Amino acid sequence: MFENSRATREGERLEALKAYHILDTASEQDFDELAELASTICQTPIAILGFLDGERHWFKAKKGTELTASPQNMSFCVHTIATSEDILVVEDAKKDPRFASNPAAKALDLQFYAGVPLTNNEGHALGTLCVFDHTSRQLSDAQRTALKLLGRQAVDKLELRRKIFDLEAAKNEILELNKQMADQSDELQTFNEETAAINEELATINEELRSTNEELLSTQEQLLSSQQRLQLITDNITQLVWMAEPTGEIYWYNERWYAYTGTTPEEMAGWGWQRVHHQDHVVKVTEKYKTCMADGVLWEDTFPLRSAEGEYRWFLSRAVPFKDETGKILHWFGTNTDVTAQREDEQRKNDFISMVSHELKTPLTSTMAYVQVAQSKLNKQGDRSTAHMMDRSLKQLSKMTIMINGFLNVAKLESGQMHIQPSDFDLRELLIELQEEQLSLSPSHVFKFMLPESVIISADRDKIGQVVTNLISNAVKYSPLGSTVQVSCDIYASKVRINVNDQGMGIPLSEQPFLFDRFYRMQGEHLKYISGFGIGLYLCKEIVERHHGAIGVNSTLGSGSVFWFELPKLPSDQQYLSVL
Ligand code: ADP
Repeated sequence: MFENSRATREGERLEALKAYHILDTASEQDFDELAELASTICQTPIAILGFLDGERHWFKAKKGTELTASPQNMSFCVHTIATSEDILVVEDAKKDPRFASNPAAKALDLQFYAGVPLTNNEGHALGTLCVFDHTSRQLSDAQRTALKLLGRQAVDKLELRRKIFDLEAAKNEILELNKQMADQSDELQTFNEETAAINEELATINEELRSTNEELLSTQEQLLSSQQRLQLITDNITQLVWMAEPTGEIYWYNERWYAYTGTTPEEMAGWGWQRVHHQDHVVKVTEKYKTCMADGVLWEDTFPLRSAEGEYRWFLSRAVPFKDETGKILHWFGTNTDVTAQREDEQRKNDFISMVSHELKTPLTSTMAYVQVAQSKLNKQGDRSTAHMMDRSLKQLSKMTIMINGFLNVAKLESGQMHIQPSDFDLRELLIELQEEQLSLSPSHVFKFMLPESVIISADRDKIGQVVTNLISNAVKYSPLGSTVQVSCDIYASKVRINVNDQGMGIPLSEQPFLFDRFYRMQGEHLKYISGFGIGLYLCKEIVERHHGAIGVNSTLGSGSVFWFELPKLPSDQQYLSVL
């Protein structure tokens, strides 16, 4: 237990010694002077200021010896630091049992020793300031006191040294801290700069957001005002306007629709519009409407709509699709334009044309009969030149007849009185008859009839004849004298196709879609003097379509045209079930 506490104390002493950082340092004048003074005051040849580090007695300052250290176990000073006295004096080592056999004392012939412990403020004896002599002797009280004072001086110097060292360490620490702080402040600076940059970015984003917001607001305002304008326009135009889903379901009507029909939005929801349609038309209208919506193509139709007062007025109705950039239909925009007045005008005009044509037809037929009689008499009398004049008159009269018949047919068509009367007949035979007729009627042109094999079709023979005649007379009318007009017929499994080919002026592509419209005539200097009313092709189209056929033209400007029409080759009982 006692040994333990001694070891602990020795450990603490060694730790304390380390704290002075004195061991193995170079000699210092202050300490050297203390050793010198000790030797001088005590009048000894040897003086040592040293420290005991557990193994050695290491000499920091010395006088009278070349040694720098001695093993601790041989050192006199071990006893000095172990004693509680403030000085150890060994007057004659040879007579002192502690040192009598000390090898160092023997080797160096040391007989006298006096040492004071160098005890620091915490009570640790770190080393000694001691003197040696080779002879036995004594120390005076003054010398003892002086040696102790010198020892204290040494301790003071040690303490000072430790403080300096501590200060140095503290300074270094402060420097290190300063450095770290400088580094941290650099980091802080970088961080600050980064934060500033982020802040700037945030400010820019904020600014962008603000301006986007403003733009959105102004777009919204514009949208609102354009919506209001649109509403204002659609409510104030004379047309009935509506919007439908891609499926065709109407979801919006303008005010005028409700005002005209006297209905409510609830009544009009979905397919509610059918309730203001005339029952004779609604099925057909709905069918066509649905087909166009499904096909995504423009819808156009004319039909009567019932007003709030119960009166039916005619409307020309159209719906155009609004598509996105991929072509997907987003909405349908529809309008209904009141065409009752135009239809009444048209009706009056048709009635007039029909009446005039009727009135003209009877005298014309009589005139033709008289001219034919006169011609045959003149022929009998041998008056060839007058008979020839009669012949020319007859041709003009038959042209007039064709024209008048055309007008009458248009009038019939418009009033729904043109009826198809189908019968089974041989198309080849019809073409042969037409060939003979043309040969006598138009000697100005060369005719090439490529007659087909016998083929029985079911159609209105007169009307089909009328179509072919019309196409041939156009071919003659719009191609130069002496050029060839070719009529051919293609027979397919389910249809026949008749082609009328001419070597005439041709038709520009831009005009082709309109040729079959009623009263449509191409304009041009060279066409000014070619008579016509623009009803021939219109009639042809109506007749062919009422036979469930198709009609068209292939033409290149300057190199002639091919007008053609196709008729189905179906059994007669199936073919005309739905004809008007
Ligand atoms: P019309 O001949 O009485 O003017 P149509 O309805 O028969 O009326 O023809 C409409 C228009 O089509 C004509 O005005 C003419 O411009 C053009 N057309 C018809 N047939 C031909 C053709 N074979 N060659 C060139 N143009 C033609």
